[in-house]
Amino acid sequence: MPAGFNPETPRRLLARVRDVMAGTGSAQDQLNEIVSIIAGDMVAEVCSVYVRRAGDVLELFATQGLKSSAVHLTRLRVGEGLIGDIAAHARPLALSDAQAHPGFAYRPETGEEIYHSLMGVPIWRRGRVGGVLAVQNRTRRQYAEEEVETLETVAMVVAELIFSGQLVNRDELRPTDGIALLPLRLGGVRLNSGIALGTAVLHQRALRIDSVVAEDPEAELVRLRRAVTEMHGAIDDMLRTSDLDPAGEHAEILETYRMIAADSGWLSRIEEAVNDGLTAEAAVQKVHNDIRTRMSQVSDPYLRERVHDFEDLANRLMQHLMGVAEKASDRDLPDDMILVAKSMGPAELFDYDHVKLRGLVLEEGSATSHVAIVARALDIPIVGNVPGVLDTVEEGDVIIIDGNNAQVFVRPGEDVQQTYNVSKRAHEARKAALATLRDQPAVTRDGQRVQLQINAGMLYDLQLLDEYGADGVGLYRTEVPFMVRSEYPDVETQHRIYARVFESVGDRPVIFRTLDVGGDKGLPYWDQMREENPAMGWRAIRVSLDRPAMLRQQLRALILAAQGRPLRIMFPMVAEVPEFIAARRLVDRELARAESRGTPLPGELHVGVMLEVPALALQLPYLLRHADFISVGSNDLLQFLYASDRSNPMSSDRYDTLAPATLRFLNMLARQCDAAGVPFGLCGEMGGRTLDAMALVGLGYRSISVAPPAVGPVKAMIRSLSAGVLRDYLPSLLDTSDHSVRQKLRAFAQDHGVLI
Ligand code: PEP
Ligand code: MG
Repeated sequence: MPAGFNPETPRRLLARVRDVMAGTGSAQDQLNEIVSIIAGDMVAEVCSVYVRRAGDVLELFATQGLKSSAVHLTRLRVGEGLIGDIAAHARPLALSDAQAHPGFAYRPETGEEIYHSLMGVPIWRRGRVGGVLAVQNRTRRQYAEEEVETLETVAMVVAELIFSGQLVNRDELRPTDGIALLPLRLGGVRLNSGIALGTAVLHQRALRIDSVVAEDPEAELVRLRRAVTEMHGAIDDMLRTSDLDPAGEHAEILETYRMIAADSGWLSRIEEAVNDGLTAEAAVQKVHNDIRTRMSQVSDPYLRERVHDFEDLANRLMQHLMGVAEKASDRDLPDDMILVAKSMGPAELFDYDHVKLRGLVLEEGSATSHVAIVARALDIPIVGNVPGVLDTVEEGDVIIIDGNNAQVFVRPGEDVQQTYNVSKRAHEARKAALATLRDQPAVTRDGQRVQLQINAGMLYDLQLLDEYGADGVGLYRTEVPFMVRSEYPDVETQHRIYARVFESVGDRPVIFRTLDVGGDKGLPYWDQMREENPAMGWRAIRVSLDRPAMLRQQLRALILAAQGRPLRIMFPMVAEVPEFIAARRLVDRELARAESRGTPLPGELHVGVMLEVPALALQLPYLLRHADFISVGSNDLLQFLYASDRSNPMSSDRYDTLAPATLRFLNMLARQCDAAGVPFGLCGEMGGRTLDAMALVGLGYRSISVAPPAVGPVKAMIRSLSAGVLRDYLPSLLDTSDHSVRQKLRAFAQDHGVLI
């Protein structure tokens, strides 16, 4: 401990600062008083606060010791002078001879020439530098490390006052640099078309710390230790319950967590900050800020990535400290909400009121990720794979999403908003034109009827059957109602849900896909096992066969709901014929049970299979003897065919759905089903894209199930296509090794007047 440093200083200083903030003076008066307290307590002649303002300048907001006439006058660019250097590099500086430093910038209006030493620290706001707190001394003083720590601790409290909105207009308090204040256009990947204007809502906002200064540091330490123990327990559970390959990356990351979590240095620094007078939450935040500062100076990308580990860990610890995280449904949300998220599970989307939801922007996310599929059913524009969007957008920003062109406008100017209005009208006109097709059948120019159906999961989707003029439901994802409930639905509840589905579809066919949980589809009440490769793990039919009671309950509810109507059931993720046979046997057992109880049996029964696992395609001759129909789940099929994770933006769009290999595969399936006389169709997302759907019709697919908003465009395409002409042209495309035949198909469409 350095001579002269009093360990009581931080705590006493914080208490005095807190008392000022609890007082009644204006925010500016309070800040003035606080700088003089800090100067006094830290035995410095000067204490100043600089706040980062729009245009990326640091403005002197309060000072003890410099000329008071310089307040609100002295402005430094970020990067300019020592104060600017602290902000630019987000790191503290402690210099006994500040003027000798090459970065020193002399500002005559402040009268600072007589001060030789300087110690300054960043004032953090939500992970970014929002200002600088500095002290100066006349003598060439050597500041001790503990003093830097103390100044950092008190900067946490000063931040609370500065960013309360009373000193600077909230609109100016951006978390990023000046650029973020300007309108921005960000590009991404189109996950659903359409355009919308609305107000940004950030999914998973940073946890808000209500109180920074501890009333009772001892009690805070107890809270902290309890939370740490809880967190350790949770991390250990995670490691224990996951049956991981010890060399896998997943295991490594968890192990890193455990190591960091158990790192006594990290924890003792948090404890120190509590001892200095911060609440446990603020102490975690402070230590996290310190780590971020240190890591930002490291150039090794691997080490820099570790910041995310700490981020995650700090969040975890914070959640244990605060109890459960705030739920979206508890928040007061705008009526024209544009949700901005890094990535999201499909169930999380249900936390938001879909009536208010205008659009979705995902930093990650690809066309086949489940959240995109769920959101598409709501017919909102979605743009995914927008790197850095969370760094740029702040809650409350005006945002325009242009799904058609895969772009997002953040804080658009007047001109862009006007253009938006024009585009919106054009989009609506196109929708209206498609609506006129609603009552027309999906039939090609040469008379081929295509069953154009919708994929559904919510009752809301089923109302769209009429609105879009679809022929039925080609995929009813039964897991969706399971995902939105807080507890597992019993047979009676399931029966009610399915009965409403039957009621909504009327005479049109509906295919119920049995529970496809696991993978990225967790159930809120189900403590899902952590798996290294969940998409290839314990999911869908594998769960159903291992937990036959669950499947039987579902089948029972479906039979009850059918009430003598035709019942169509299909099983997801079947990899081998015996799985299908075993599942089908359970259907038979449930039918026998229903019969013995006098329950009316379905008028017809069709038991089909989703073709999602490539190996099943090699068993078709056997499968087709048992299955009543085949539906290609192209989302999963293609991810497995190309070994390309559908939810990872780095890999999902790497291979084109319109590659010769895909088309050959789909052709092979179609020919074998045709030969066996077994009906077949496709229900993956590719069917909803007009050009892909055109190729499918050319290959002989006569049943396509798409997201409801795609019905109109796909129907328009079908009605303008001569299927026979395309069928004759396709073989020349299949027989190549190109990356994609998309351009050739597009040229075909253009030459033949096909509306794509
Ligand atoms: C598919 O895999 O293509 C499919 C339709 O199922 P899901 O997207 O629900 O996995
Ligand atoms: Mg699937």
